[in-house]
Formats: sequence, C-alpha cells, structure tokens
Amino acid sequence: MRVFVTGGAGYVGSHCVRELVAAGHQVVVYDNLVYGHRKAVPDDVPLIEGDLADGAKLRTTLSEGRFDAVMHFAAYAYVGESVERPLVYYRNNLANTLTLLEAMRDLEIRRLVFSSTCATYGEPERVPIVESLPQKPINPYGRSKLAVEWMLEDSARAWGLGSCALRYFNACGAARDGSIGEDHRPETHLIPLVLQVALGQRAKITIFGTDYETPDGTCIRDYIHVEDLASAHRLAIEELEFGRADAFNVGTGQGQSVRAIIEAARRVTGRPIAVEEGPRRPGDPPVLVADAGRIRKAFRWEPAYVDVGEIVASAWRWHESHPRGFGDR
Ligand code: UDP
Repeated sequence: MRVFVTGGAGYVGSHCVRELVAAGHQVVVYDNLVYGHRKAVPDDVPLIEGDLADGAKLRTTLSEGRFDAVMHFAAYAYVGESVERPLVYYRNNLANTLTLLEAMRDLEIRRLVFSSTCATYGEPERVPIVESLPQKPINPYGRSKLAVEWMLEDSARAWGLGSCALRYFNACGAARDGSIGEDHRPETHLIPLVLQVALGQRAKITIFGTDYETPDGTCIRDYIHVEDLASAHRLAIEELEFGRADAFNVGTGQGQSVRAIIEAARRVTGRPIAVEEGPRRPGDPPVLVADAGRIRKAFRWEPAYVDVGEIVASAWRWHESHPRGFGDR
C-alpha cells in the first residue's frame, strides 16, 4: 500500500514508519517538525514539511501521491498544556483532523488508522479497561481525541470510511536497532525522566503521589513498547474493513507502579537514582491497565515486550547512546 503518515517524524509515528517500510509498504511522511525530528525519518522515505492546518498543501500532497491509506499521528499530547490551552488542542487535534477527513473523503481514500489514547476513558470504572467501558475523558487532550473517534464513526456510516482508532496506554522504549527513540522537549514522561537521572542530567525523580490505593502507594500504568505499537498499527491498516469504525486498546495488560519503574531503571543502568516523594499530579487516575484481548484476537497481535526490565533496557540503550536525543533542539 501507499501510506500517508501524518506526524511520521514524531515518537510513535517514526517507529510505525519503519515498521511499514519493513513490511514492504511505500510511505510518505507529512510533518510540520514542531515536535517531530527530521532525523527520525529514514533517508529514503520522503518527508514533506507541512502543516495539517494548511488544507491546500495537504490536498495537493494527498492527491498527487495516490495513497491507499492514511496513518494519522500528528497531534499535541501534553495533558497539562491541554488544560491551560484547550483551544490549541481542539484546533490541532480535532479541527486539523476534520481537514484531513474532508480531503480523504473528496479523494476517496477510505482507510485510516488513528492514534487515540486511553485518556479517552478518563477515570475508568474498572480495570483492566475493555473498549466497551464508558469514555469520559477528564481533560481537553482526551476530549479532543474522543471527538475524533466520533467523527470516524459518523464517517463510516456516511461515506464508507474504514478506520481503526488505537487507544494506546503508556508508549515507551526505543527501536531495537538503537537508531531512533524518544526525544520530547519538554520531557514529561516517567521512563525518560528516570533515565535522565541515571545519566546525571537531572538531580532526582519526583514521584507524583505515594498515597494512592495501590500496593506501593504509587500510580500503576501499562507501559507498551513503541515497536509493539508499531506492529499494531501495521496490522490495523492491513486488516481494517471499509465502512466500519473500530477501536482497540493497545497495551500489555500488565501494570507497573512508579516505584517498580524506578527499581527496574536502577537494575538496568546499575546507577543510583535519587527519588523525591511529591504530591499527586492533578488528573492522574490511580490505575490504568489495558485489556488488550480484542486486538490480540482480531489481528493476532502480540506484544514482544512484556518484561519491565526489557522495556526499560530498550529505552536505556537509546538514551545512553543519544544523551542529547536527536541533537536538533
Ligand atoms: N510520574 C511521576 N513523576 C514524573 C513523571 C511521571 O511520578 O516525573 C508518574 C505519573 O504520575 C504517572 C506515571 O508516572 O502515574 C506515568 O506518567 P507519564 O507522564 O509518563 O505518562 P501518563 O500516564 O501521564 O500518560
């Protein structure tokens, strides 16, 4: 297939680009490079520097490329920022996706994989989370992603769009060959921050809340390796059905506490990691763990990484060998 990948220079997008290329698909990346990195895109994959808000450029690129499918990653993904600047999130994540869908409808491109999030569930009634639980997001980021899922459902009915919304849990890790990995500015995610402490780039890691009703008092998350996310995306784009909007959780089904991640990082790096216990971060549910049974069954998808030590080791290989990330910011 010829696949148009928005946000293909970003963290999850760039790993998916490699997976698609390895599977024999032809890929073109469309990215405004605000958060993405040029170096994250392989040299032989065309990278068009463009914004989804630029509807004219988007349309021209889409129509000239004769694409069979779209993978849509381009979005903003900082929960805290979304609370401060909600309209920026609705503009980028919702309005820009509307522009993309209008172009796809007009050009009769009816295959889409959308990067959604477990943040669409808000504070779930039960864990592990199954797809049928109510989606009640508690921040503008999650709401902007849920609103896109609604557009996908309506588009399936009205013009035959086939889509898969993949609701990721906590993306982490780096490419097995060490070539690309996580480089967010600012970095807010637990695993890279902990590894920055191991590298001596940061004095300590602050644990956000130690009084949760969990076995060790810290939040539990489902850390899913970015290459496992990539294989899920490839399967989804290959297998999705026209005229149907589907949605799948993508996680390992295993929960890890903040303290467990820090311990794993101490073991893997062999370095001391100073910890400070701080207050809860607003909006953090105590436990988010996926029931990923649907995607396992539908696409025979299986995560290659389930062991927390292997997941942290994968991230460590990247951060240790690229202490300045891609070195472009
Ligand atoms: N966390 C923490 N200290 C940090 C960053 C994160 O204790 O400096 C916790 C956070 O409260 C959450 C977990 O680590 O329970 C994962 O947070 P992250 O920001 O990586 O991902 P999120 O769950 O927000 O998508």
